[in-house]
Amino acid sequence: MTFVAPHFWKKKTKSIFNFLKRDLYFVKTPWWFKKLYPNCMWDIKTNEKNLYITFDDGPHPTITPFVLAQLKKYNAKATFFLIGDNAKKYPNVLQQIADDGHAIGNHTMHHINGWKTDAQADLNDVKEAKQYINSNLFRPPYGRITKQQIQLLTTNDSTYTIIMWNVLAGDWEQSLSPQKCFNQIKIKFIPEQ
Ligand SMILES: [Zn+2]
Repeated sequence: MTFVAPHFWKKKTKSIFNFLKRDLYFVKTPWWFKKLYPNCMWDIKTNEKNLYITFDDGPHPTITPFVLAQLKKYNAKATFFLIGDNAKKYPNVLQQIADDGHAIGNHTMHHINGWKTDAQADLNDVKEAKQYINSNLFRPPYGRITKQQIQLLTTNDSTYTIIMWNVLAGDWEQSLSPQKCFNQIKIKFIPEQ
């Protein structure tokens, strides 16, 4: 005897799977998540109305110049977490970021996932990227890092400050319109008590 799933069941299961296939992320990082990684910087306490904007994964030959032009328009400074391999490929774009007075940070050589890489290999990839990215700031790709990797990156000759985030734009999602992207983050900038 074969079991034939009713139509509604199939539909429901399909929608659950579609949901699971989506990138799941917190637009605003919850306090308890930050507590899991207390040695990483998630936010900077200030009484001033400051926004610390960061851009990951460049330098990119067309997107980075566009971002730089927008920042210039508003006289804003940002931090770019760069992939070593891209910095090697696009030295002129890297130079432009520096010339415009922005800060840069290391985002590994090959955008590796820290949860799938052993600590020493991860450190070697960061060190390789260091040849092109002169910075003591580090952001792990996908925010994935282990306690052992944190230990290696913050001690001895690798004294990085590990920078995470407290609001995530989700702008890599192609189905997310610019307006929706803006709406979902703007309400998250209300300071925590
Ligand atoms: Zn990244």
